[in-house]
Amino acid sequence: MNNIDYNKKFNEMIEEIQKSNIRPSLFLHACCSPCLTYPFSILAKYFDVTVGFFNPNIYPKEEYDKRLENVKKFLNNYCKDNNIKFNLIVNEEDFEKYNKDLLIRKDDFEGGMACLKCHQYRLELAYKYAYEHKFDFFTTVMTVSCLKPSAELNKIAFDLEKKYPTTKYLYSDFKKNNGQLIGIKLAKEFDIYRQNYCGCKFSLLERDKRLINRK
Ligand code: SF4
Repeated sequence: MNNIDYNKKFNEMIEEIQKSNIRPSLFLHACCSPCLTYPFSILAKYFDVTVGFFNPNIYPKEEYDKRLENVKKFLNNYCKDNNIKFNLIVNEEDFEKYNKDLLIRKDDFEGGMACLKCHQYRLELAYKYAYEHKFDFFTTVMTVSCLKPSAELNKIAFDLEKKYPTTKYLYSDFKKNNGQLIGIKLAKEFDIYRQNYCGCKFSLLERDKRLINRK
């Protein structure tokens, strides 16, 4: 699936939705507010969006709370300015299980197999929720980040669609068309906190090492 133009597939699906004159429901997995800004601004035009903050990877708890607070801040302010309704669902049940699985990240590196498992874990948690709550569509904001492999994220979610077939997967490659840059501008405009590490405790330790080496 690696040569697929996911942005083109996204545009084709949006075109179909527009033709149908229906405004479907969409469950949007969001890892953090800076990654949420641009995808949400696009998707809210076509869908009734429910944002899912399903991220047991974020460490420590203070950082988790800060990222969640900033998701709320962005949604409240952006939706008020643009007269949009939204829902936000927060899943806080899976920290223990996630942290057991995370131990494999200890001997890996950012972007390696452990990160793929982390993406898989969070996407499945969110996709399952979308399916059980009868959402029409599911997608994730994570394809906006240049540090995240769009092909692999789309492949994971495409496979999940077979398991949860009544909720369609909306392909995406939000980093196309300067998506990440537009998202950063929106984050600045809405005074959103932008973290400097991915999320888990290993990525935090790596961030600290980088900062020490720079000094
Ligand atoms: S670096 Fe990011 S994607 Fe990789 S395991 Fe940690 S939180 Fe997950």
